[in-house]
Order: sequence, then C-alpha cells, then structure tokens
Amino acid sequence: MDFKFSSRVPNVDNDVVGEILKVAGDPEIISFAGGLPAPELFPVKEMHEAADKVFEQHGAEALQYTAAIGNPHLRELIVERMQTNKEVTTTVDNVCVTTGSEQSIDLVAKMMVDKGDVILVEKPTYLCALDVFRSYGAKVVGVDMDEDGMKMDVLDEKLNEYPDAKFIYTIPNFQNPTGRTMTADRRAKMVELAEAHGVTILEDDPYGEIRYSGVAVPPVKHFDKNGTVVYMNTFSKILAPGMRLGWIVADKKFIDMFVVMKQSADLHSDNLSQFIVAQYMEDNDLDKHIKAISDVYYERASLMLKEIDEQFPAGVKHSNPEGGMFIWVEVPGNVNTMDLFNNCVKHNVAFVPGEPFYPDEVIPGTFRMNFSNMKADQIHEGVRRMAVAIDEMMN
Ligand code: PMP
Repeated sequence: MDFKFSSRVPNVDNDVVGEILKVAGDPEIISFAGGLPAPELFPVKEMHEAADKVFEQHGAEALQYTAAIGNPHLRELIVERMQTNKEVTTTVDNVCVTTGSEQSIDLVAKMMVDKGDVILVEKPTYLCALDVFRSYGAKVVGVDMDEDGMKMDVLDEKLNEYPDAKFIYTIPNFQNPTGRTMTADRRAKMVELAEAHGVTILEDDPYGEIRYSGVAVPPVKHFDKNGTVVYMNTFSKILAPGMRLGWIVADKKFIDMFVVMKQSADLHSDNLSQFIVAQYMEDNDLDKHIKAISDVYYERASLMLKEIDEQFPAGVKHSNPEGGMFIWVEVPGNVNTMDLFNNCVKHNVAFVPGEPFYPDEVIPGTFRMNFSNMKADQIHEGVRRMAVAIDEMMN
C-alpha cells in the first residue's frame, strides 16, 4: 500500500538517531548514547505499596475515565511543590497534568504553530522537541549559548529579526544535550525580552531538581508576573518515566485552551498512574528520594568528568554540569562526529553525535555523553575506549 502520509510524517529513511540508538543497543557496546534514568533507583517497593493502597481505597475510581485537566489531589501536590521547590506561586486552576513533557511540548506546538512560524531555541537543544516543532511546519531558529545558557544579546537580535516568532523554547537547567544551566540574571532578562516582544516562553524543566552541586536557580517562570511563561515539568526523572506523567503551569487562559487540545489528544493522562503518584507523594518523602538519585548521579558525573580529563586527548573541552544526566564534549578541529561515532562503535563504545541537536547551523566536533545509567567500571572502560577512538580521528 502506498500510504498518503501527511507532511507531518518525518522521512523515516533518514532516522539517524534511531539508527544510532539501535547500534548503541548492542550488548557488546558500552553506550553513553542513551538518556535513561538509573532503574536501580526506582522506588519499586514504595510504588507497589502506593498502588496496593490505591486499588484498596479508590479502585473503581482510579480505573474510570477522569477530567482532562487531571487528578485534583495530584494537582494540589504539584502546586505545593511548585511553591516549596521552585519558588513559583500558582493554583490548581493553572496546572494541567500531562502524559509526560513530550506531550506538553507536542500540544503547545499544536496550539501555537502554523506552517512557517518561527520558534527560537537554544543551539543545540533537545532533539525530540526539534522533531515535534518541525512536524508542525515550524522554522526553528537557533540562538547561541555559552556555559551560562542562552545568550540574551543574541536572543534580542533574533527577536528583532523575527518579530512574529511564536515562542522561545528553553531548557534552563542541566540542559539536554549540553548539561549547561542558565544564570538567574539571564532568566530574568529572558522574561523581560519576551514581554517586550510579546512572545511566549516555553520552559522545559525535567532535570532541575536533579542538582548535585552548586546553588539552585529559580525557574524562568519565577520571574514571570504576566503569564508569559508556560512551564513544563515531569515525574520521569524524579520518579519513574514509565508512569508517563508530567504537568504544565500556565496562565488560566492558556490552560483552558490546553485542556481542550488535550481532550482531543488522549481525553486525559493515565488516571491510575495519577492516583499512584499522588499516593506515593502522600506516603513518602519525594525530596529525599530525589536527593538519593542526585547523590548517585553526582558520583557518576564526577567519575566521567575525571576520566575525560585524564584520558581524552589535549584540547578536548567539556561542559561541567551541576546536575542532570548529560555532558557535552567538543573535540578541536573539524572532526565529523558521525565518523567518530562509527570509529567508536568499532571500539565497542557509543555516544550521540552533536548534529541532530542543532536547529540550523551545526557546530562540528560536538557530542553528548550520558552518565546517569552507567556503572563506575563501564564509565572507566568506556571513556578509555573513546579516548583511543578520538585520538585516532584527531591524528
Ligand atoms: N524534555 C527534555 C529536555 C527531555 O530530555 C525529555 C526526556 N528525555 C523530555 C522533555 C520528555 O520527557 P517525558 O515525556 O518523559 O516527561
């Protein structure tokens, strides 16, 4: 059958990332390519207990359809966390539960993007967000960043160049793929610029609470007094991605429209998952659990950075994340990281080349390494193998 797919459907002959992950999935390969939380840290027993309690106390209700905006108790718990952990004051009417941030990104793009519309993003940025934006026909424009996040002078230039830009998409904490964090000053400035230009900010914050060093910076949403920022977060990295639960916090007018769009996407997010997560949060200390995750990721990140410093050839640079799951590496010269990937695979080690993370212009010699799901011996041996492969490419 010759299917008449819409223009939204990507060219699957060109699924570079899929191919990379397939190769990296070979059990012989030490893979720094993935982006998975460490499964040994999932609170399996506590979630099991929460699930038992839900079935005992709310069984039929949890198995029924529910409202698109989400479980009222879970939304109350989210409102509390936004205040205590994020310095964002909000109400249950400003919160919608979602099927993970991936859905939040998709629905916001569906709500706001017409073919040809401009979206401004960090250069580089989360590649699945790029795929979503492009599927709605957006023209995605990159804004330069440095170790302190998106550069505000460049954002200002781009906003002047594209006055009709629909929104600015940012991952301010331990960004995927770079691990970089935007300073508080830049966050405040971003809100100021967005307001001056009448542009929405879409803030994606899945890693913010996985901070293992340095000082917490409040979200961009904290600096927003006029409803400019649509804030997204998720239980995927702080609890369990398989629950498929996230949330957005936004102006009531935005939430009302978001709920309409969500209703036609999936009616509501998994009701049973919502009950279980709310019960888990009632009965357990989620902050303590997040601290335990952060402690382990700190060990893994520190080891990977130490091994990179000791083993990679001179001139190789890397980001210094204070949290999250990723390190961004820059190899000097014009090394093609797709070729480097193929050479690393010959040495049974993998990463994700930088190219797919770039919205437009590609900076050569860059790539992403993940440490969250790697044990110490794998980090040590994998970095050693990569060092050999990089050395071969540089010489
Ligand atoms: N945004 C970013 C920056 C991510 O890294 C991810 C997960 N890799 C997501 C959104 C999607 O997360 P989820 O749908 O599991 O909440």
